[in-house]
Amino acid sequence: MSQLRVRFAPSPTGYLHVGGARTALFNYLLARQQGGKMILRIEDTDVERSTQESVDAILQAMDWLGLDYDEGPFYQSERFDHYQAKVQQLLDEGKAYRCYCTTEELTVKRELAMKLGQKPKYDGTCRERADQPAGQPCVIRFKAPPEGDTGFFDQIKGPIVFDNEELDDLIIQRTDGTPTYNFVVVIDDAEMGITLVIRGDDHINNTPRQIQLYQALGYPVPEFAHVPMILGADKARLSKRHGATSVMAYKDEGYLPEALLNYLVRLGWSHGDDEIFSKAELIKLFSLKSVGKSAGVFNPEKLLWLNSHYIKTGDPVRLGAILCEHLTATGIDTSFGPDPAAVVKTLNERAKTMVEMAASAAFYYRPELEYDSEAVAKFLTADHQPVLDLLLHKLEACSDWTHDGIEAVFKGVMAASGLKLGKIGPSVRVALAGGTTSPGIYEVLEVLGKEESLRRLRIGINKIV
Ligand code: GLU
Repeated sequence: MSQLRVRFAPSPTGYLHVGGARTALFNYLLARQQGGKMILRIEDTDVERSTQESVDAILQAMDWLGLDYDEGPFYQSERFDHYQAKVQQLLDEGKAYRCYCTTEELTVKRELAMKLGQKPKYDGTCRERADQPAGQPCVIRFKAPPEGDTGFFDQIKGPIVFDNEELDDLIIQRTDGTPTYNFVVVIDDAEMGITLVIRGDDHINNTPRQIQLYQALGYPVPEFAHVPMILGADKARLSKRHGATSVMAYKDEGYLPEALLNYLVRLGWSHGDDEIFSKAELIKLFSLKSVGKSAGVFNPEKLLWLNSHYIKTGDPVRLGAILCEHLTATGIDTSFGPDPAAVVKTLNERAKTMVEMAASAAFYYRPELEYDSEAVAKFLTADHQPVLDLLLHKLEACSDWTHDGIEAVFKGVMAASGLKLGKIGPSVRVALAGGTTSPGIYEVLEVLGKEESLRRLRIGINKIV
């Protein structure tokens, strides 16, 4: 069997959306599983709508997801001369023709066909035309076989056949001389040696046309697998009104790439009842045979659940770096203050996103705390002063600034004062964190370090009036 060669071929007319990311992921997984090659091709033939900004956004998103490729990125806009030569080849071989029908003429014909209840289709007026009216604009059309059928075996959907009568003579070159998607995709997939085309099932109707072009150009036809769409909860195609659809928006919202990948692969693919898969496991287990034929419904709660799983189990050093990015984005300087990995360990059980974690972690890095005035009024009061003074005194003398060492100090203070942790804890928490919610007191003290903890305690005590 020849080596598997797959490709991801986004059009740079916007950011990378989750549907595109899933297609890229399926390609990637199979390439890695089978020792094949993954090619990235930027389909920028639509010069009007393609932008460098979108190219950058797509590359950035692929990078963030860790979907690396072996060849590319290739740019179709750099191959226009080559496509033109191929158009000429089809013209020379009598497999394509110039069509001078104007848009107005075509509109009239289309409307008439619709009125008669017929499927609108190019009627072939210019198909056998021999003259070439000088200076008149024209498109180039492919001379599609008028009879018979064109079929293929889709690796996800099974056998699919189209009646050739349904397919009209496709435009392969526009009036302005630029080639069209269905034409260039065939040339590139063939010349890049693609053996399996995995793409969204919105392209299914293009596939028979492309197969006819492969045949006309004398190329071997690859295999195809069309991935079902992603729908929103209301069963409409996933769009912005369902929430974020851009991969990088998920990054900004504090999702981890492994959570998004895990979520996207499960949307339409299953392996028993398993939900959690590392990339290595996916590379081992993924199969197009277990991809469902119908559309998957995007479920934000499940993505959130996976995200909290990966936050809980992720490497604190790596998560610490991500945490700092989010803190920096909110204007917090993390160059001073506690080790981010240590901070992560105090928050990873509860935070569902890294944005949530950053909100909870901010107090660690704020030299000037924002105090919750209600909490101050309730817990930093004169009746708390004696025990806080005693605690401060004992902590100043503490030489074992570890969770256990700090706990021992607290136990001593509790015994001496006859107060339970439930009585002392809230005041200490307000002094250290500014409010009544924070990770465990001993952890916070340990992570803040002795000097900063004592500084905050003193400030807290000074607030007592
Ligand atoms: N450029 C096409 C798109 O973004 C993909 C074409 C393909 O995969 O064949 O929809």
